[in-house]
Amino acid sequence: MSSITPSHIIQHLYCPRFTYFEHVLRVPQYEEKNYKVMRGRGLHDERLEQNKGYLRRRLGVVARYDDQYLTNALLRGRVDEVLELGDGTMAPLDYKFAEYEEQVYNTYKTQLYCYAWLIEENFQRPVTRGYLVYTRSQNKVVEVPVSEDDKNLVKKAAQEILQIIESNQFPRATKYKERCVHCTYRNICIR
Ligand code: SF4
Repeated sequence: MSSITPSHIIQHLYCPRFTYFEHVLRVPQYEEKNYKVMRGRGLHDERLEQNKGYLRRRLGVVARYDDQYLTNALLRGRVDEVLELGDGTMAPLDYKFAEYEEQVYNTYKTQLYCYAWLIEENFQRPVTRGYLVYTRSQNKVVEVPVSEDDKNLVKKAAQEILQIIESNQFPRATKYKERCVHCTYRNICIR
């Protein structure tokens, strides 16, 4: 693996053994619904375009950088929009081709935490929040707080992934045993 992606981090946080099976033993997995990252890239919705101006004003955006491919020493990712905000911070904004279901999935949050880390290193500006736009709920915008602990969570996961791959280390199982029931690796995993 040349560098880690937000999807790897999401899978690792779901169960660290995914990293081992997929990237050490190279057993391919079949993407499960639980951690599937749905992307809204390539949307050319007219209403969405019209909403972008409104959105920018509402969020206090002073500059916007579209479709940013960002990397650091461990991670790489493509952010739909990087927003520069009036309070001196920056924020990732990600479009989801999905309906808002009264809660933000952990997978979406983790993705934003990864982007926050990338933005801070590439733009040298603090990130304290991110935004999700749910295109199937009339472009509803949801703000997601991003704390230092949140950024540290994904940084630690990236370090763990590297460690597992470099030392062929068999990691601990997820503590949520219910995740094993539908796991793609359940037949080869010692629990
Ligand atoms: S069976 Fe359970 S412990 Fe093993 S990889 Fe799957 S989720 Fe992790």
